[in-house]
Amino acid sequence: MDNKEKLDMFCYQCSQTAKGTGCTIRGVCGKEATVARLQDNLLLATKGMAAYLYHARELGYTDTEIDAFLEKAFYSTFTNVNFDVEEFVRLAIEAGKMNVKTMKLLKKAHIETYGEPEPTQVHTGTVKGHGIIVTGHGLKALEVLLKQTEGTGINVYTHSELLPAHGYPGIKKYKHLIGNLGKAWFDQKKLFSKYPVAILGTSNCVLIPKEDYRERMFTTGPAHLPGVQHITGYDYTPVIEKAKSLPELEDEQGEGILTTGFSKSAILSLKDKIKQLVLAGKIRRFFLVGGCDSPLKKAEYFREFVKQLPQDTIVLTLACGKFRFNDLNLGDIDGIPRLLDLGQCNDSIVAIEIAETLAELFGVGINQLPLTLVLSWMEQKAVAILWSLLAIGVKGIYLGPILPAWVNDDILKVLIENYDLRLIGNPEEDIKRMLGS
Ligand code: SF4
Ligand code: SF4
Repeated sequence: MDNKEKLDMFCYQCSQTAKGTGCTIRGVCGKEATVARLQDNLLLATKGMAAYLYHARELGYTDTEIDAFLEKAFYSTFTNVNFDVEEFVRLAIEAGKMNVKTMKLLKKAHIETYGEPEPTQVHTGTVKGHGIIVTGHGLKALEVLLKQTEGTGINVYTHSELLPAHGYPGIKKYKHLIGNLGKAWFDQKKLFSKYPVAILGTSNCVLIPKEDYRERMFTTGPAHLPGVQHITGYDYTPVIEKAKSLPELEDEQGEGILTTGFSKSAILSLKDKIKQLVLAGKIRRFFLVGGCDSPLKKAEYFREFVKQLPQDTIVLTLACGKFRFNDLNLGDIDGIPRLLDLGQCNDSIVAIEIAETLAELFGVGINQLPLTLVLSWMEQKAVAILWSLLAIGVKGIYLGPILPAWVNDDILKVLIENYDLRLIGNPEEDIKRMLGS
């Protein structure tokens, strides 16, 4: 969309709103468009944090400092409270820092509950028998379902962002957790129509179902869909009964085997070897390529980008953006896999901690590491993560597939001048620029 076609802002949260429909150029209250957009940005980042906090709380982990920040952030967007552009930039940075704390909290909750992930191979086919596909991000829902289906003969499959669940010892121990089906969240209509199984949606990134599988789909936790039975609490009996009533799946070989579960410990156990390989010139650069995938055509960039990277580079990945390229066989560098899946989007904290440790190991700052971040964004968790990365001082991030729509020229100027944020362009040219060749 041409900039001129964009609304300058949109706010209809109070009765003064222009023409009774919405302030779109400047608030009747005097709020400037950039302030309105920075308020939206802050709300989007806090929504992302809320999702992580929800899953941490499910496992019994909370943090009063983060809760207090959320109150402050929401209140600052209230009518006639805060009209200060600079304060909203500062609040966005604070949101980034609080999101680091939030991601640490969730990681602690996951590790203390299910153990630290370990590199694990995951099948992508089906095994004869009744089945349930679990989608979303809810490790707790998945683990409880696995416990409740043990010994029933029902096989459980993950979809999309639940792939990393296979790396957790407390989850992979269930032998009837068979594998991962499909790719990123937006293939679910096709995938769920294809397999005659019960389906459980555990979090965000569930789509309004097609009629042909609506009655065999269920939601739990924060997810709700029209005409779909919602399970309150963790008794998944209706899902299990539905799975038993459906035809059995046949044995079907998948397209390949995926490897996930590269935790902080797994990677840092290799740190001396990594240092040697970097100093010997065998590893030229690390790339963190991932984030939230979107169905936009332009997101094909990420597969092309990874395909074109030279052999002396390592790709760290996380979130569902990995499904753009995690079927590629990138090989290894002296035994270190060239593709390392760190987990879900909240495992950005693992990437941050690995980068911090490598920076210490090489005696440099994060921005001096041979590391480039190439991130895709789709929704509000990615906004929180972007601000986390900016808050810890990461510069020169490449972002795609598009510039967030709430960013206007003023905000873009700040992002470029202060953080050297770049938009993805052409994979070949971007790689040349990143490698300085
Ligand atoms: S808060 Fe301000 S910008 Fe928003 S609707 Fe009211 S007058 Fe308009
Ligand atoms: S990584 Fe983002 S887009 Fe992908 S499934 Fe998770 S929240 Fe959704």
